[in-house]
Amino acid sequence: MKKTKSKLTNSVHIGSAGDPLYGGLVNPIYPSSAYDYGADVLYPRYYNTPNQTAVVKKIAALENAEDGLLFGSGMAAIMTSLFALLKQGDHILFQHDLYGGTHHAALHELKRYGIAHTMADVADLKKFEDAIRPNTKVIYIETPSNPLLKITDIAAVARIAKKRNILTVIDNTFASPVNQNPIDWGIDVVTHSGTKYIGGHSDLSCGVVVASKKLIGKIKGSAMHFGGCLDAQSAYLVERSLKTIVLRVRQQNKNAMAIAQSLKDETKIKAVYYPGLKDHPGYAIAKKQMPGGFGGMLSFEIKGDPEKFLKKLKLIRKAISLGGVESTIAQPVKTSHAKLTPEERKAVGISDKLLRFSTGIEEAHDLMDDIRQAL
Ligand SMILES: *Cc1c(COP(=O)(O)O)cnc(C)c1O
Repeated sequence: MKKTKSKLTNSVHIGSAGDPLYGGLVNPIYPSSAYDYGADVLYPRYYNTPNQTAVVKKIAALENAEDGLLFGSGMAAIMTSLFALLKQGDHILFQHDLYGGTHHAALHELKRYGIAHTMADVADLKKFEDAIRPNTKVIYIETPSNPLLKITDIAAVARIAKKRNILTVIDNTFASPVNQNPIDWGIDVVTHSGTKYIGGHSDLSCGVVVASKKLIGKIKGSAMHFGGCLDAQSAYLVERSLKTIVLRVRQQNKNAMAIAQSLKDETKIKAVYYPGLKDHPGYAIAKKQMPGGFGGMLSFEIKGDPEKFLKKLKLIRKAISLGGVESTIAQPVKTSHAKLTPEERKAVGISDKLLRFSTGIEEAHDLMDDIRQAL
């Protein structure tokens, strides 16, 4: 099927032509790891087997990208891309607020390979630009950020980078391909932890990179060496999940907005962070660059004891990760940002009483009832 203007239609049909042998509606699972070596050599670690390709076509369509690669985890997608685009002696500029795993990998892996990095506050674009060095080859951003949902102006960063021929990479996990398409704003490479919204059911691990054909070719060269590909069975599950991603994320957007608004009126809540709230500092930019919605993630600080609050929740599950159909809640100091030192956490503004909430697809008032009784 040809791509249409509708994400809903594309999510169902692109890449999912069905079974050519029996006329079945869904793509068969092709578990072969060995294929006839005709013109196109198919092999899992060449990232070109039928189930991998089906997923890539769907995500590329949703992200307005030319091509992509499917990995076994988000970190495989991110680190493979960075190692493919950088070499010894290069510098990479990260925005300060990063997913904990990426932050830790930057500190502990890149340096060992002779790749220098800076982490700078992207809220002040002038200062961010000043952190660019003559050997800066990649600028890496993440928006909305984890866990404070800070908004980076994607188009502004892309402009700064283009002026100097620097490549841009964005982690688009929190927004999902439904809400935000960074390539439309001039970004070169988009990564996702597909373990989150793309999988969407808290039952698989995968990662995705989408970009131009040329850049994907370059990343694929390294990806074949690093070998972080996804198997056919999991790829099929990802394809199936993607058929409902638009429905799921739209409901999650709606729920997150309703909960963020309700939490603002609760006396036992100190602060609410959600880019869809008009008093959020990134609201205007988010409204522009997230045409699909403000996302299903929010965070809030409570006045009381977070441990006691979490114990009292009945419907909402205390869990790491995010983006599933079930609502989950986590304390970043104990989970995503546990590896940061207290000083590093303070620098990015993460307090012990901060809770990160991943909205599921349940009824919003059931979720609010649970939060209220636990408060
Ligand atoms: C989870 C996550 C990752 C890492 O993905 P994995 O699938 O766990 O490897 C990267 N970035 C963000 C924003 C994430 O939430």
